[in-house]
Amino acid sequence: MNEIVCATGVELLMDYLEGVLPADVRAALDEHVAGCLRCTAFVESYRATPRILRDATAAPLPADLEASLKAFLRARTNAFRSR
Ligand SMILES: [Zn+2]
Repeated sequence: MNEIVCATGVELLMDYLEGVLPADVRAALDEHVAGCLRCTAFVESYRATPRILRDATAAPLPADLEASLKAFLRARTNAFRSR
């Protein structure tokens, strides 16, 4: 593994972030990412995304909130339809 460019790096970065790369490739990518704004931004946004998804799905909707939300949506839908 000599030089890593961003074009090939994106695919590598996916593996890098999944943690499935051999240690030497990983080390080379660490070095590249540390000195590359594009890859740093990519890594940060990639890492942020699953966290956001987890946050959104971590807590089930409380039953009463779900019920009032459905009632609200039903009322809105009916109001819309009656127009
Ligand atoms: Zn890069």
